Amino acid sequence: MSTERLVVVGGSAAGASAVQAALSEGFPGRIDVISRDRSAPYYRPGLSKQFLGGAWGGQRLAQRVPQAETVFWHSGAGATELDLQRGVVRLDTGDPVPFDHLVLAGGCRPRRLHGLPLGDRAFEVHRIEDVVGIRAALPQGGHALVVGAGLIGSEVASTLRAGGSRVTMVDPATAPLLPALGPLGNEACLRWHRANGVSLLLGVGVSALSRHRDGIVAELTSRDTLAADIVVVCVGVRPDTEWLDGSGVPLLDDGGIDCDARLLVRGSDVVAAAGDAASWVSPRTGGNVRVEHWLTAVEQGAAAVRNLLAAPDRRTDFGGLPMFWTEQHGHLVHGLGHHRPGSTWSVVEGEVGEPGMVAGASTQGRISGYLLVDAARRLGHYRQQLLAASDSSPTVV
Ligand SMILES: Cc1cc2nc3c(=O)[nH]c(=O)nc-3n(C[C@H](O)[C@H](O)[C@H](O)COP(=O)(O)OP(=O)(O)OC[C@H]3O[C@@H](n4cnc5c(N)ncnc54)[C@H](O)[C@@H]3O)c2cc1C
Repeated sequence: MSTERLVVVGGSAAGASAVQAALSEGFPGRIDVISRDRSAPYYRPGLSKQFLGGAWGGQRLAQRVPQAETVFWHSGAGATELDLQRGVVRLDTGDPVPFDHLVLAGGCRPRRLHGLPLGDRAFEVHRIEDVVGIRAALPQGGHALVVGAGLIGSEVASTLRAGGSRVTMVDPATAPLLPALGPLGNEACLRWHRANGVSLLLGVGVSALSRHRDGIVAELTSRDTLAADIVVVCVGVRPDTEWLDGSGVPLLDDGGIDCDARLLVRGSDVVAAAGDAASWVSPRTGGNVRVEHWLTAVEQGAAAVRNLLAAPDRRTDFGGLPMFWTEQHGHLVHGLGHHRPGSTWSVVEGEVGEPGMVAGASTQGRISGYLLVDAARRLGHYRQQLLAASDSSPTVV
């Protein structure tokens, strides 16, 4: 083993992929993976779907861990300090971990509602332990209050309904899925919720929660109160980057790590970022973009490490086309490419909310993204359309 050292902070989608890529590239040195999770890496998207619904156990959720005698996993260890000058990451145990190359792949963590502490009846959905807690606390046919009707809240509502629970979902927004799915996807998903018996309270927030006998009572901004067995808080995530404050790694207002088009942290050629926390200059949009999707995290982990280990003139821009999927009430929805709040949407195939629907988003007159409902077989076709569109116009915003 050479004395060269690669350190990866975060051992999930982006981190594990970075380790795998370093091994595939023949990195000869030592690789340290610092992962706050005590459990081995797992497939996070399954948490709100198959694992919550009971279709998969923990083993099925487990991710393949890149193994080699040069790879050292520090599981259950948090990185708390970065000394860029000396090339050292310090752990919460106080131990220093020196590096020549560093990949920051710490992802995001859930936002919490101010004044609403989690507990034995209040949960978020980010780690295996959260979902184990929900499953244990919600009685068969019980009532769950889901706060936040974005993608993850909607998946939780859909999975719990399919399992026979009563579900009430509240969100202060009246079109909560607009940012993720655009107006047609939002309309479709709200329709599926209603058709499947989710009680939707839109334009309403939760102002207080209290523990009450065997359940919780929520005070709503509408001044109503609502009793349920449990509450599941799904109000979005933010990059888990506070530990980098003051380290010299530039952070953007949303907490994202500011990277160039090659995923290298601005001002450094030994530190790169990948996954949910990385905000990089996408050649497709021409500006900083941060994507919170599994496939992008996997692709970026590999791309970041290849660029770190490559000679400067062999480094390449990361131009991966974003793709995500979500499962809602038996419908498999895919999103491809980019869309912005000002994008114009139109139906390209089928009818809104029906299997086979494809909707396209145009930004500044050019197609920039697609949404597909139960149309996975059409993904390749629309992917090609977007790649062709961006080849002829590299900066579609
Ligand atoms: C419930 C749920 C459902 C989802 N469903 C989908 C889906 O259907 N489709 C899709 O495309 N995406 C989905 N996602 C998003 C997807 O899981 C993420 O985009 C992906 O996990 C991001 O990977 P990552 O490696 O960047 O970060 P993460 O998976 O968040 O992993 C980061 C890891 O780094 C660790 N870490 C953070 N800071 C430190 C530190 N200082 N020291 C040590 N370790 C640290 C964290 O504990 C964590 O284990 C879902 C996410 C959730 C939570």
